[in-house]
Amino acid sequence: MQSDHPITVNDPGRLLTLTYVVSLSIIAILSLVVHFMLDSVIAEQNDTGKIVNVSGQQRMLSQRASLFAVDYLLSGSEKSQRLSIAAIEKMKQNHQFLLSEHFEALEKGEPSPLSETLLNLYFYFPSDVDNKIKVFEEQIKAVLTQEAGAAMTLNSTKSLKFLQLAESDLLIPLHNIVGQYEKESREKVDELRHAQNIVLGIIILTILIEAFFIFRPMVAKVSRFAEKLQRDANFDFLSGLLNRRAFQIVAQQALAYSQRYKRPLSVVMLDIDFFKRINDSYGHEVGDKAIKHVAKILKMSSRNADCVARIGGEEFVLLLPDTDRAGAFKLADKLRDRISNNPLDVDGKFIDITVSGGVSFVMDEHNSIETALSQADDALYKAKQGGRNNVQLA
Ligand code: GH3
Ligand code: MG
Ligand code: MG
Repeated sequence: MQSDHPITVNDPGRLLTLTYVVSLSIIAILSLVVHFMLDSVIAEQNDTGKIVNVSGQQRMLSQRASLFAVDYLLSGSEKSQRLSIAAIEKMKQNHQFLLSEHFEALEKGEPSPLSETLLNLYFYFPSDVDNKIKVFEEQIKAVLTQEAGAAMTLNSTKSLKFLQLAESDLLIPLHNIVGQYEKESREKVDELRHAQNIVLGIIILTILIEAFFIFRPMVAKVSRFAEKLQRDANFDFLSGLLNRRAFQIVAQQALAYSQRYKRPLSVVMLDIDFFKRINDSYGHEVGDKAIKHVAKILKMSSRNADCVARIGGEEFVLLLPDTDRAGAFKLADKLRDRISNNPLDVDGKFIDITVSGGVSFVMDEHNSIETALSQADDALYKAKQGGRNNVQLA
């Protein structure tokens, strides 16, 4: 048969891991965004750098084409003719490159990627570079196809003037286009930088928010959890005293100290008398109260340096550093006396509790805590045999 309410144990680790993973993922995603933005800033800079460079070349090429054309007219040099044609061809290529995206967009019926200013510079009066480049090319080619021998004729002098005019008429708009490309490139990069700064700000803010509202509480929770684990591992949950495991660790340290500095070390073992009867007569709950009650008296009546532990159901042990046999016996008997004179108050009903004790002494006589405990246990047995509510020395 399946239970409707399966027994579940709260697992704080799962929630912590989930919170941790989500928080880190947010930071990771934002970092990726910054990375890609930086990437696109660099790509943008590359693209616009190339465009600015090519548009800058146009100015140089227009001057080069006209200078060599003039030289050809004046000298008839074939080399100048060739160089002028090469310059004008390169200029045409560059022009096509600069306007390729514009024409592609127009073919697809999409708006031009060029800004209004650039469109004006390229296609509208008075700048009209697109048209002027064509006219310029025609002018140059017309001059270059003239007979070199007719270079100094009246006709060619007119052409020469016209050529110089056309060239200077083209140079300023070309210059303006370069300026405009530079300006737009700066603006685009600035825009991306701005966006990048915003995302960076968001990342920093997110980290701060996560640090304050997620990581800080998470660390506090983890340390509380670690403290609780530490407590659960070392302390008995019922009495709040050290458990057997922690007692053994502390006892080893105390033994090492006592042997090294030749200091006395004593062990007292106490066991509640007829505890079974308490449980049987009043129930386990009252039995638990009796254990807590005895634990409280032991803790309150011993020194800070003493180590008090619950090592069994109703068995307690005290480790007493710097305490000799007589002192340990005295304390054990004092504890026994206090317990027997302080009955447990259960809702106004007083229940008498007594303990029996066994005392053993560690230094020189015993090498290990186990031996000391075993000897204290033997003494305790003697106390039980001796009528209970008494303390015996090993
Ligand atoms: P003696 O005087 O010889 O020590 O007799 P006793 O009854 O105290 O000793 P015994 O060992 O016969 O019984 C101990 C009982 O303690 C048995 C067990 O049910 C009970 N006990 C052990 N641990 C706990 C606990 O944590 N809470 C309660 N209520 N009882 C416990
Ligand atoms: Mg007992
Ligand atoms: Mg017992």
